[in-house]
Amino acid sequence: MTRLRVLNCIRASGEASRTEIAAALRLSPATVTFVTSGLMLGDLIEEVTSQDTQDPVKRGRPRVALRLTRGKNNIAGIKIARNSISVIILDFGGTDVAQDEFPLVNSQMEPEELVTTLRDCVAATARVLPNGMDDLAGISIGLAGQIDAEACFVHWSSSLTHRNVDLGELLAAHLPCAAFIENDANLVAKAEHLFGEAQGLSNFLVVTVEHGVGLGIVLDGRLYRGERGCGAEFGHTKVVYHGAPCQCGQFGCLEAYVGNFAMTREAEKLLAGNKEPSVTDLVEMAASGNSCAQAALDRAGQMFGMGLANLINLFDPERIILSGAQHRIAHLHSDKVLADVSENVVNVDAPLPDIRVHHWGDEMWARGAAALGIENVSELKVKDLGRDAS
Ligand SMILES: [Zn+2]
Repeated sequence: MTRLRVLNCIRASGEASRTEIAAALRLSPATVTFVTSGLMLGDLIEEVTSQDTQDPVKRGRPRVALRLTRGKNNIAGIKIARNSISVIILDFGGTDVAQDEFPLVNSQMEPEELVTTLRDCVAATARVLPNGMDDLAGISIGLAGQIDAEACFVHWSSSLTHRNVDLGELLAAHLPCAAFIENDANLVAKAEHLFGEAQGLSNFLVVTVEHGVGLGIVLDGRLYRGERGCGAEFGHTKVVYHGAPCQCGQFGCLEAYVGNFAMTREAEKLLAGNKEPSVTDLVEMAASGNSCAQAALDRAGQMFGMGLANLINLFDPERIILSGAQHRIAHLHSDKVLADVSENVVNVDAPLPDIRVHHWGDEMWARGAAALGIENVSELKVKDLGRDAS
């Protein structure tokens, strides 16, 4: 535990001297010296020496700080989207090593095909490393659906043809290093917390609007996943009893009215098979006066507003970040929707939580995956150090 606390302290500050670590964690200098030498032996941290030029008395004396080892323990982060796979490789200190994006022909695959496709994408991106994939310490994968991250088990994902897949077993068979999976909305929450609009916040929510609707919950600074790892299925909360069919196989789910797949279904009805419809088509039809298209957008806005009010009533978050392309989700945070939200939030004499739109490309989702991978690999490596020492 102390090793992990020291490692996390160094990660959080970028660089820290032994004295600063001892003060921040209230540890004795002897303990910090002992723990950091173990971490250095394990190649997890390294010393950096810099001249302190700020202090005229100390000028000339080198300052020795510790940071996460650069150029080693590389981690690949992956985001599986509907039409593409994004891969980013970071070193243990979080510095960019490589990134790439690959088109995806089949948006739904057999589990083994998905894993071999992932392996090929990672191998291609890792070509810049001296030993390719063998230089990776971990691979962290984000995909949509009900994911048990701890058990590396997929209850259901729109990317897979099968339900209840023990992805951990397949990943271990096809990949050369430790692999982790995570619900993709949790990756956005992670990325927002580390690099984005939720820096410094402890209680916030991220709602992703893509093909489906996802939710990342951060409470007291930690991701909340639920007991079975599928505790944030906002998209599959029911908004109409026995309502529209959802891609999960059930009926009346929020995303069956709000997700991109629901919007393209509406556009398809109106375009009567003239072309491949998109959400943008629906938005454009509404803008040019098509009342049916407008009604579909309005209904999505109403359902979404009701959902947001319920989230605020349940979690009382500091901030809700909506993640989705601005031109595709303008109808989900219109003045009308926000007025609906405030009407349906429990009545207290305090302002509504801040609701804002922040959209990142798939690369940032992959970066969130890599950041989680760094944390997971840290825990594994620190456990290994403990085993070696005992
Ligand atoms: Zn559903």
